[in-house]
Amino acid sequence: MSREKEIFKIDKELVTFAPFPTFLLNRNGHVAIWNDLCVKYFGYSLNELTTSKNTNINTTLFSTFTEESWNRILLGKEPFRFEHIQLVTKNDSFVSATLLTMPCFLDGVPSILVTCLLDDLVIRMDDTSQELIDLKNGLYSTFMVVTLDAEGFITHSNQAFLKASHWTPKRILGKTFWQLFPETVESAEIVETIWQTINSGQIWEGDVEKVTKDGQSYWVHLTAIPTYSQSEQNYHYILIEKDITNEKKLKQQLEKIAYIDTETGLMNVHRLENIVSEMIEEGRHFSFVYLSIDKFYTLKELHNDHLENNLIIEFTKRMKIYFQDSDMARINENDFVVITPLGEWFIQGFLTYLKQNPIYIGNMAVPISISGGITRSPQDQSNFSQLMNASIATIANVREAGGDSILSLSNATHKALNRRSIIEKRLLLALDQQHLKVLYQPQIDLQTGNIIAVEALVRWEDDEVGVVSPDELIPIAEESGLINNIGSFMIEEACKQAAEWQKEGLNLKVSINLSVREFRDKNMAKSILSILARTGCPANLIQIEITEKFALEAEAETSIIKQMRKLENEGIVFVLDDFGTGYASFRYMQLLPIEILKIDQMFISSLLQSEKTQRLIHGMVQFGKSMNLTVLAEGVETKEQRQLLEQYGCDAIQGFLISKPVSELEISSLVATV
Ligand code: C2E
Ligand code: CA
Ligand code: CA
Repeated sequence: MSREKEIFKIDKELVTFAPFPTFLLNRNGHVAIWNDLCVKYFGYSLNELTTSKNTNINTTLFSTFTEESWNRILLGKEPFRFEHIQLVTKNDSFVSATLLTMPCFLDGVPSILVTCLLDDLVIRMDDTSQELIDLKNGLYSTFMVVTLDAEGFITHSNQAFLKASHWTPKRILGKTFWQLFPETVESAEIVETIWQTINSGQIWEGDVEKVTKDGQSYWVHLTAIPTYSQSEQNYHYILIEKDITNEKKLKQQLEKIAYIDTETGLMNVHRLENIVSEMIEEGRHFSFVYLSIDKFYTLKELHNDHLENNLIIEFTKRMKIYFQDSDMARINENDFVVITPLGEWFIQGFLTYLKQNPIYIGNMAVPISISGGITRSPQDQSNFSQLMNASIATIANVREAGGDSILSLSNATHKALNRRSIIEKRLLLALDQQHLKVLYQPQIDLQTGNIIAVEALVRWEDDEVGVVSPDELIPIAEESGLINNIGSFMIEEACKQAAEWQKEGLNLKVSINLSVREFRDKNMAKSILSILARTGCPANLIQIEITEKFALEAEAETSIIKQMRKLENEGIVFVLDDFGTGYASFRYMQLLPIEILKIDQMFISSLLQSEKTQRLIHGMVQFGKSMNLTVLAEGVETKEQRQLLEQYGCDAIQGFLISKPVSELEISSLVATV
């Protein structure tokens, strides 16, 4: 072997365009060539490695190398391979690599070619391709896979698909997407949606029914994925399907079971809801008869579950015989519903029938008492939950009157129920269109006789439902969650008005009523403060009235107390409204930042009639004073009431004696005349 042959000559290009970080060292250990991938992965530029001794490659990239290894590379006549060594990059992190070094000549200069096979890079490349292969194998073995071209023609399908669909590989090619589904209207609709979805570049996923080549139905969970082909400049689609025919069948079976009350064989409330909703949709007329066994009368004799079960089964038997073809459901332990076209007198006759056919437990006939309600659809109520609610309301009335009868939803209850739902709907509209109004009722200081504050009270007159008093409105709003909207409206109006009066030179505080529900909103304090800022209203012009019930609940909720404290710190004053009607407690008086006690009008109205009330009110005023609170009395209608309150040392009064709640303009003129 000639010496010539052992010499490995390279040219610059080999280093520059190598697919790995590659560089050339001369025998002194100086870098001569440094390719772009070196810059990319190690961070150093060639310049940095050649300008100063401190930044030599053996003190930077190769700083983990021992002197010995370094010399082996520089002086060695053989190629070396260093497995998984740590190189140090410019930003001081480690890169693991396998180094291949090779003595060589560049333009006749003895050099060392160094190639770095970065572990990460190598592994990642291998991994991705292997992962893809694994993924494809996994996919093909568990799912049916079909590919479509841009027009929806089938271009490929896997074995699993062919097996399930009974197509042969030859026959399936050239068939279309649409031919995979049954030819029904519902199916056509779904298939169209799928096609539109993937056509717009989105993935569609869901359960669909399909047909085999020979027209048998089967169900799949389908994921349809559009993929864009750059070379063809259009979409292909991949359908990935999992056969769920068995699950589907099982589910239908389970649904059947889930819809039946196992004890009585009657349908349960879920099934009832479906049936009733369907009947309503079809516009059918029927009576919804709710029958509840009065537990108190009937079951007190029965001491064990077994006897109770027996009674339920015997009762069901009688119900089935009496109502025959009607739909019957068991709602819970002792409640049943019969859906029937039969008339009221016939339904009520069921009670007589029960008396004539008593249920025996052992030798004893059990006296059975039923409370029942008949609600008609569509005349009385028009959806399932309304029917249930109306029935429960009727049953409550029947029970109150002693039970053991079946009544129709009385007109009065019926109207109340309807009015409530209409109010809810109209309230939404009213809030939206700002139809609520605010009236203000003045409070005067008993020492000076001046109007010092006004209470803002909500007013609503609706075109459809007429006047809705706050006593009717507020509970409905609280239940429907609309109270927050009323609250924000009132706060906004009150702040605007207080700021306005201040501008006019009137020093009037405005008191607003807020419910505990509103304070459950964690942002309540924040939003009040932002309304103050927005309307330019100083915080000390605003008072918030809370009821004793509120106070009781707030006591247990630290987040409410925190919010109240925050507002108090800003200068807002809290008033304890309706004082004396709830559970006055020293504890929450200390816990909550209350400054004013408002003695409820109930006490004031009987002030003159009863000495006992007089002592009570006197005591309340003293109590308030001893707690360092301002005491205000509301509902003051007569001079005599005012005089007594003055005697007791009450600070301020509010009531018809001074003024009814009036508009803001009237307040301005009242202030001028008082
Ligand atoms: P409240 O806070 O105790 O308000 C006082 C109620 O007594 C008002 O009834 C007022 O018009 C009435 N009133 C005032 N002076 C007299 C009087 O001398 N004699 C008699 N017999 N009644 C008098 P209104 O406006 O119908 O409000 C009823 C309740 O509705 C209020 O009781 C309050 O709890 C609630 N409410 C009113 N507006 C709002 C509001 O904006 N938000 C909230 N959350 N509740 C409100
Ligand atoms: Ca109030
Ligand atoms: Ca009150």
